[in-house]
Amino acid sequence: MEQNPPFPSPEELKSKLSEFMKTNFGDKVSFATFTQPETAEAGSDEKPAADEPDDFAFDFLPRDIKAHLDRFVIKQDEAKKVLAIAVCDHYNHVNYQRRLEREDAARAESTEYAKQNVILVGPTGVGKTYLIKHIAELVKVPFVKADATKFSETGYVGGDVEDLVRELVQKADGDVERAQFGIIYIDEIDKIAAASHLSGRDVSGRGVQTTLLKLMEETDVPLRSANDLQSQLQAAFEFQKRGGKAKRETISTRHILFVVSGAFERLKQQVSQRLTQGQIGFNNKPRPVMDNELFQFVRTQDFIEYGFEPEFIGRLPVRVVCEELTADDLYQIMKFSEGSILRQYERAFRAYGIEISFEDEALRLIAEEAAKEKTGARGLLTVWEKLFRDYKYHLAGSGLTQLRVSTELVREPKKVLDRLMAEGSKQEEASMTQQARIFSDQFKAEHGLEISFDEGAMQLLVERAQAERMTMPELCAHLFKDYQFGLSLVQKNTGHGSFVLPREAIEAPDKFLSELVVRSHYPLASA
Ligand code: ADP
Repeated sequence: MEQNPPFPSPEELKSKLSEFMKTNFGDKVSFATFTQPETAEAGSDEKPAADEPDDFAFDFLPRDIKAHLDRFVIKQDEAKKVLAIAVCDHYNHVNYQRRLEREDAARAESTEYAKQNVILVGPTGVGKTYLIKHIAELVKVPFVKADATKFSETGYVGGDVEDLVRELVQKADGDVERAQFGIIYIDEIDKIAAASHLSGRDVSGRGVQTTLLKLMEETDVPLRSANDLQSQLQAAFEFQKRGGKAKRETISTRHILFVVSGAFERLKQQVSQRLTQGQIGFNNKPRPVMDNELFQFVRTQDFIEYGFEPEFIGRLPVRVVCEELTADDLYQIMKFSEGSILRQYERAFRAYGIEISFEDEALRLIAEEAAKEKTGARGLLTVWEKLFRDYKYHLAGSGLTQLRVSTELVREPKKVLDRLMAEGSKQEEASMTQQARIFSDQFKAEHGLEISFDEGAMQLLVERAQAERMTMPELCAHLFKDYQFGLSLVQKNTGHGSFVLPREAIEAPDKFLSELVVRSHYPLASA
């Protein structure tokens, strides 16, 4: 296959672009408009360069991290503990290594260290990503997630495996220093197990493992992808902006922490089988998925049999299970996790002026429904969305201010919604009728004239206010803006200062008023 010509260096690119500008636009457009003014000191707004000491400080204890995770993640205690330790070991080593690099580069170079990369085993939706995300937030390092199924031997769909590392830089807002301590999380890693003994679909698994292995070991990744024109252009401009001083071009993966995860469905049979055959004292109760009790019997050899290269699995020394979530766990998540979907719905309804509250039993029912979805806590999202979609639509702007979520609501959402809507419109009607009366009172106070509405008139007023989305005082002020003049004329002619307005006065207020005035002038003619 023919290769593209090598991309020009920043200097070459700059001179080519200048030439292009000049040829096409003469002196009208200058290439200099892309640059910073001369006074801008090279790199004055930049983060420190690689060889300057940086401000990455890590001083957490495993128990601090566990405590932080406990606020958000329900259950998964073993995973929290193991991750907390791995993360502390990792970043403590990073600190040590960087100090050593400054003090004794040779010794730093020769220090042996096995990075604490992690395998998380567990089904979908049980908090694997959530754990890593919260760790990254606490430690203040960037975090990138990818799906191993997207990888192929030559790269991955839409890019290169190395893009993951560049993505870390983006997540760190271009701060390469911070990006090099980031966490890369790769899900569905079990899908790249080389399944040569199975259907043969996944022949590339081995190759992908090799590519990833290179990242997990130490490698330098170019900061700009060779295929990305935009970033190459930017490099050229930055080169110029920095007065021709080259900027750091690569990022090392040495201190990046890798976490991989997957459901590893076959692993459970594999291990249970071995255990029952070997008759090790082990309680062989049926397990839907891998749990911590069974996992203690998993060995590196099991992963190799599963289809992983020994070198690959050897780079992932920390292994732990995230267990399946029961209906009770899902209840706990709704009730106690700080990131609970319940808070999200409270906020969503509050934005429409509705305070939503929950009966515990209703939450239990929702949890049971969600557990049936078999997608872990993701099932909660599905159930909530389905349950409350129509509620949000119909109750927003209905005048209802309280919503109590009861078991009845969870069991028969449609019925309860219909009832609430009927109640809501009744409430709104009552409040509008009240406002119409207030209008009458004010009218009397201001003009000394009494107006009231008969039943038909009141009904029409409420309907119009609702249809035209006006408040009752606005509507009345609009309809009866000339009434104080007309009615005081009538009062002068007839001596009557009290008026009951019928439907017609709402339908055509001006016509109604002028007829009233005419009749008061010519009582006989109208009779
Ligand atoms: P996965 O295990 O597939 O990575 P996630 O961590 O992405 O699943 O979970 C999806 C969402 O479900 C999370 O964003 C979080 O809101 C919720 N969730 C999952 N597990 C838990 C848990 N153990 N405690 C609290 N919330 C959870």
